[in-house]
Amino acid sequence: MAELNLLLFGPPGAGKGTQADRLQADFSLPFISTGDMLRANVKDGTELGQQAKQYMDAGDLVPDELIVAMAAERLREQDARDGFILDGFPRNLEQAKALDEQLSELRRHVTAALLIDVSDDEVVRRISGRRVCVKAGHNYHVEFDPPKREGVCDQDGSRLVQRDDDKDEVVRKRLEVYHEQTEPLVEYYDEQGVMRRIDGTRSPADVHDHIRAVIATLRLEEDV
Ligand code: ADP
Ligand code: ADP
Repeated sequence: MAELNLLLFGPPGAGKGTQADRLQADFSLPFISTGDMLRANVKDGTELGQQAKQYMDAGDLVPDELIVAMAAERLREQDARDGFILDGFPRNLEQAKALDEQLSELRRHVTAALLIDVSDDEVVRRISGRRVCVKAGHNYHVEFDPPKREGVCDQDGSRLVQRDDDKDEVVRKRLEVYHEQTEPLVEYYDEQGVMRRIDGTRSPADVHDHIRAVIATLRLEEDV
């Protein structure tokens, strides 16, 4: 079967992490989130984590030289050989070009960039109610996707908290950074013919169905 090298992107709070949780259960592809990798580094107090934290807390992008090497190394691991779902990378044009170079060295290419599209107002609504579990970062929303027991993760029983960078003023900064630096990638991947748009305003289950249908079509096309 042909490999599936997928990018998930969209504004902060669009539902990428929520969909990734569901997609991992459907496809045997590793889910790679640069945000999760950075948060793990911050939690473990590594040098990378210490360097990255100030940018993350301010809602800015972490410098490319820290991110590109981290992502490239992860994509070369054995479990990503038949494909991957990449969330949160690339975030700007330089990173997109670096990713293309890395993949072409491995004689691979991006199969599809899936844009989960929602408005800024919806982003703010979603992020203000977002809660994540301390153990694995599983996502919930106090109103739209509540856990069975308040404050407790359904999947691993750990405590639910608000992320440091989910405070209102940081969210606005992250949105600004998204529109300025990440959104131009829509055109970049459109030109490569791999852009697929998903309406992210629908329910998590509907968005999931749509993504699965897109992936099923891609699989058929890659196999022809
Ligand atoms: P969200 O889930 O809100 O889309 P992420 O978890 O992907 O956000 O990222 C959180 C923060 O980590 C970003 O605001 C940024 O500081 C940093 N980050 C994650 N991925 C990258 C990247 N590819 N380049 C630069 N910074 C990144
Ligand atoms: P991202 O990874 O893109 O930053 P998340 O998956 O963490 O976004 O989702 C942000 C918040 O919105 C979470 O609290 C999540 O439970 C909620 N959410 C995700 N998808 C939907 C949806 N389709 N409708 C309503 N709320 C959603």
